[in-house]
Amino acid sequence: MTVAADFEALYGTAPDGVWAAPGRVNLIGEYTDFNDGFVLPLALPHTTVAAVSRRDDGVLRLHSADVDGGIVQLTVDALEPLSGGGWAAYPAGVVWALREAGHPVAGADVHLTSTVPTGAGLSSSAALEVVTALALNDLFGLGLSRPALARLAQRAENAFVGVPCGVMDQMASACAEEGHALHLDTRDLSCRQVPFDLAREGLRLLVVDTRVKHALGDGAYAERRAGCEAGARALGARSLRDVSAAHLPEALARLGDETIRRYVRHVVTDNARVERTIALLDAGDVRAVGPVLTEGHASLRDDLRVSCPELDLVVEAADAAGALGARMTGGGFGGSALVLVDTDRADEVATAVTKAFTEAGHAAPGVFPAVPSAGARRL
Ligand code: ADP
Ligand code: MG
Repeated sequence: MTVAADFEALYGTAPDGVWAAPGRVNLIGEYTDFNDGFVLPLALPHTTVAAVSRRDDGVLRLHSADVDGGIVQLTVDALEPLSGGGWAAYPAGVVWALREAGHPVAGADVHLTSTVPTGAGLSSSAALEVVTALALNDLFGLGLSRPALARLAQRAENAFVGVPCGVMDQMASACAEEGHALHLDTRDLSCRQVPFDLAREGLRLLVVDTRVKHALGDGAYAERRAGCEAGARALGARSLRDVSAAHLPEALARLGDETIRRYVRHVVTDNARVERTIALLDAGDVRAVGPVLTEGHASLRDDLRVSCPELDLVVEAADAAGALGARMTGGGFGGSALVLVDTDRADEVATAVTKAFTEAGHAAPGVFPAVPSAGARRL
């Protein structure tokens, strides 16, 4: 295990243990998680692996094999939210959030490396937080549940790093199971493992990493979030989760603002698409999920308006090449798309998407299969 050997070379002693946490892709249910809604992510085989030892002297040492700059040494008592610190803010934020919640985390040595692509919308940040949280939970005997660890990891990212993300990414990384998608109700964090057996159906789910990230996305998340909250207020609903798809036309008719009307329509219909997808997976009809994905993409493109030309191109090219369905996944404005395709057509579709990118003058995208994999674990 090279992570353990590298830890020893770095810190001079073997680690107490080695933990792993995966990145994720969200099958369907986008921008629903801050509306108390439903999401359906799956864990990727790509993981962040951390070798960790407990310390009881207040010192926190962090090292990533994937980042230049050596060991970052911090004092747990002096951890300050929003004080910068680059990548180290993610694991340091987890220590801070645990301590804020009253858990006696007195220090640690951490060395990690990851196969989760960063900034591709596949949640390398959540993998980094969750692997840290799980290791500290084990080493300090905290006895926290997976959802509790996910919440604290989210708090680390929100309050310490300063990124206003929902809880889906951390929940997926902490709670997913191999061969399943995770139906998560973000209102109470209740979840159910939904069987998602692509191979048995002769299907493949491709992740297409556009390798672009448009600056527009930086303010858009907060703006969409504020718009959704304004929509819920205008409808007298606790959140948009409480607006049923059956009553959507009446609800929309009560909204004066065209932008808010579009946002509300996206969230309500995407929650319904999560439920439709789950019904199809439970019935074993994975193929029929394809059109639901494509419909979800149209909603994100036209109603929420968080797509971009590269993501739209993936969906169009995949569709033209015979995919069953495709959609952007994650926050949009770049990042990754998902394509559901028959296994025997997967190479053809991947080639067609890559060709479309080249012809449009974009750099070639990264394409790999999303195999529903295990959540965080001790190795
Ligand atoms: P995403 O979560 O979609 O990959 P984010 O911008 O939320 O993108 O998180 C990426 C950030 O997480 C990186 O810029 C870096 O600060 C941190 N990070 C992720 N993986 C690693 C790693 N292996 N080593 C160090 N930092 C990492
Ligand atoms: Mg992230």
